[in-house]
Amino acid sequence: MSPSQELIDRLASARRVAAFTGAGISAESGVATFRAQDGLWTRFKPEELANVDAFLANPQMVWEWYQARRAVILEAEPNAGHRALVELERLIPSVSVITQNIDGLHTAAGSSEVIELHGNIRRNYCQQCRRRYDDEALLHLKAVQACECGGKIRPDVVWFGENLPAGAFERAEHRAEAADVFFSIGTSAVVYPAAGLPVLAVQAGAYLVEINPEATPLTRYANESIRSTSGAALAEVVLQLCNRLAAGGRSGN
Ligand code: NAD
Ligand code: ZN
Repeated sequence: MSPSQELIDRLASARRVAAFTGAGISAESGVATFRAQDGLWTRFKPEELANVDAFLANPQMVWEWYQARRAVILEAEPNAGHRALVELERLIPSVSVITQNIDGLHTAAGSSEVIELHGNIRRNYCQQCRRRYDDEALLHLKAVQACECGGKIRPDVVWFGENLPAGAFERAEHRAEAADVFFSIGTSAVVYPAAGLPVLAVQAGAYLVEINPEATPLTRYANESIRSTSGAALAEVVLQLCNRLAAGGRSGN
C-alpha cells in the first residue's frame, strides 16, 4: 500500500516530523523482532530474560542471551528504512527519531537526532554501583564480568519494570507534541510508556501514520496505515516527497 496524497501534501508543508520506531524497522537488517526470536532462545519469553530479577537470579544466562543478540546486532547494517529517515532530513526542516530499539542502527545510518528510549546494547554498566563500562571488548566476552564493587556488569538497556533513561522520555514527549506528522514504524505498540507517544502526538494535532505489515492497537488512532514493510514504505514516501517538492516547491509557511 502506498502513501496517500494527503500524507505527501502534509509532508510538503511540515516543519516538524517525528518517527517513532520499533524492532520492525530493523527486521530487514536481520535483527529479529521479539515475536520472531529464532534458534536457541525460542523457549524463553523476552519478558522472562529482560528483567532485573532474572539477572540477579541467573546473571550468566541473561548475559549469554544478550551476547547472542549482540553477535547479530554488531554485524547488522542499517537498511533502506533507516536510510530513508536520514534522507527525510534534507526535505523537512526538523526530523526527530524516537526509537525503542537498542541496536544503534539509526545512529549508524546517520540520523542526527536519535532519542533512545530503551538504551543501547553496545554499552554496559554495573547493576550495583551504576558505573559505566564502555569497553568494546565486553561485547564479545562469554562470561558475565564483575565490577570492582562486586556487582555484576549488565547491558545498558531498559528492562521490563525499569524506568526509562532520565530526560529521554520528556524529550520524546516534546517531539511528539510538536510534530506536524508523526510516523509509528515497525512497533507492536504495546510496551508502555513508549507506546503512548503516538496517541499523545495525535491529541496534540499531528497527522499519525502507521507503517506496519500488521494491524496494532494503534491502528484505530492512525490517520493512515501503510500495510507494508518499512524499507519499501519509507523509500516510497521519500521518493514521492522529492517529486512533489521538485514540482511545486515547499508550500505552507
Ligand atoms: P515487537 O517485536 O513487539 O514488534 C515488532 C513489530 O514490527 C510488529 O508489529 C511487526 O508486525 C512489525 N514488523 C515486522 N517486520 C516489519 C518490517 N519489515 N517493517 C515494518 N514493520 C515490521 O517490537 P517493539 O514494538 O519494538 O517492542 C518490543 C521491545 O523489543 C522494544 O522495547 C525494543 O526495545 C525491543 N527489541 C529491540 C530490537 C532491536 O533493537 N532491533 C529487537 C527486538 C526487540
Ligand atoms: Zn559496581
